[in-house]
Amino acid sequence: MESIWTKTVQIPERKRAEGSLEREIAVIGAGMTGILTAYRLQQMGKQVVVLEADRIAGGQTKNTTAKITSQHGCFYQKLISDIGIKNARLYARANQEAIDAYEKMAAELGAACDFVRLPSYLYSTGNEECLKKEAAAAVSVGIDAEFVKETELPFPVAGAVRFSKQAQFHPLKFISAAAEGLEIYENTPVKRVRKNVIYFDGGTVTAQKIIVATHYPIINFPGMYFMRQHQERSYVLALSQCPKLQGMYYSADPDGLSFRSAQNLLLFGGNSHRTGKKVQGGAYNDLRESAKKYFPKNREVCCWSAQDCMPHDGVPFVGKYYYGQRNRFVATGYQKWGMTSSMAASLLLSDLASGRQSIYEKVFTPQRRRVKAAAGSLMQDMAESVKGLAQGWIFPYSKSEGDEQKHWTRCSHMGCRLKWNPDEQTFDCPCHGSRFTADGELLDEPATCCLKKRQVGNRK
Ligand SMILES: Cc1cc2nc3c(=O)[nH]c(=O)nc-3n(C[C@H](O)[C@H](O)[C@H](O)COP(=O)(O)OP(=O)(O)OC[C@H]3O[C@@H](n4cnc5c(N)ncnc54)[C@H](O)[C@@H]3O)c2cc1C
Repeated sequence: MESIWTKTVQIPERKRAEGSLEREIAVIGAGMTGILTAYRLQQMGKQVVVLEADRIAGGQTKNTTAKITSQHGCFYQKLISDIGIKNARLYARANQEAIDAYEKMAAELGAACDFVRLPSYLYSTGNEECLKKEAAAAVSVGIDAEFVKETELPFPVAGAVRFSKQAQFHPLKFISAAAEGLEIYENTPVKRVRKNVIYFDGGTVTAQKIIVATHYPIINFPGMYFMRQHQERSYVLALSQCPKLQGMYYSADPDGLSFRSAQNLLLFGGNSHRTGKKVQGGAYNDLRESAKKYFPKNREVCCWSAQDCMPHDGVPFVGKYYYGQRNRFVATGYQKWGMTSSMAASLLLSDLASGRQSIYEKVFTPQRRRVKAAAGSLMQDMAESVKGLAQGWIFPYSKSEGDEQKHWTRCSHMGCRLKWNPDEQTFDCPCHGSRFTADGELLDEPATCCLKKRQVGNRK
């Protein structure tokens, strides 16, 4: 299933890496994070190489909805209570600055990427009080926000929080322009990293600094990011014959819908679930039912889905990969707000990798301890992982509820039991979110290799 972005832009192909390369800085992953970070570092005069397993933007970035906003759901009230007002202000500032940085960079590159400023709205159909509190929290961290009663949505709302001067764009038009002058190798999956050497089939890259921008980090130890976040998928329909919206919309309600216009189409999103947990299918059909209800004349042009990493304490991990490691860096855990987060990460990582300090380091550092904020999700994730590992290792070939003979496989990442996703026709890991085609080919990290033949069970 192809997004409207991949349908409308062809990024020129790059060759795969070969032999032994030596560079000052190596970036693993050519999604929005990897490309922005490599671009910044090259601008600072560094010699940078990017290694990409697939194609440029071939991971989640090609399937985003590309709202560029610091409005990250009903978020700032909780953020202030979790990390304090001072740090919450820094978080908001980093994300607001990211919007300006996109505008500046698009102009600098002369990128015709449909960048446009517009407001972003967080709406609710019932919870006016919560929205009013969220608007006040956003104002207190320095965002131009207000509570409003009216929206353009085709159903009544209790109100919405309006953030002004946010933005949207065509992510692949932008990334294509940003990648143009960079040294990038495609179809070069990294298999392992030892000290300052990166290994891929047919060669190595030796670099003084390594930046892991693979969406979900592919190095398990040290760092243990697999213990600190899980992945969630959600679904998008591109619809014609719908009204053009003047703003972008996201719901504060559980199971709410997301809206933005892109040229003459409406991007209609929703139906989030933990990766590997929609074994009954129906994700697209549920969304189609809602689309029909609100836009009866709509025509579906295409549909797609993507997933993102959800950190336990609700803040991305950006900084040193592990305590004391000065030469390896990471950016992950964007919780479906990876446009501003990846720009903020690129600014922070380019400072750290070139030996500078950044005021944002302490907010995003992966070495933080926010045990109270993380406790609930941590327990839930641990329970999922224990279950998935037990099913994968102890009962690798037995069936469990909902399996219907389709999921007799173990993930090549840590051995968790995979689940068949009938909507996507893929094997998905409920523990950490790796995904594979029906034939066992790797689709999404943190796994770095395909399923072995004997791991693929009878799907018929
Ligand atoms: C449905 C949906 C809608 C979204 N909409 C929005 C939105 O409107 N606004 C917003 O801000 N955010 C949105 N997001 C989130 C956003 O799309 C992501 O956070 C962002 O694209 C992540 O970028 P990335 O560069 O970190 O990851 P990716 O784009 O996944 O890039 C990682 C790259 O690393 C490569 N890689 C992986 N393993 C290896 C390896 N072993 N060797 C070499 N390369 C490797 C991958 O192939 C990939 O190209 C949405 C997410 C979802 C799920």
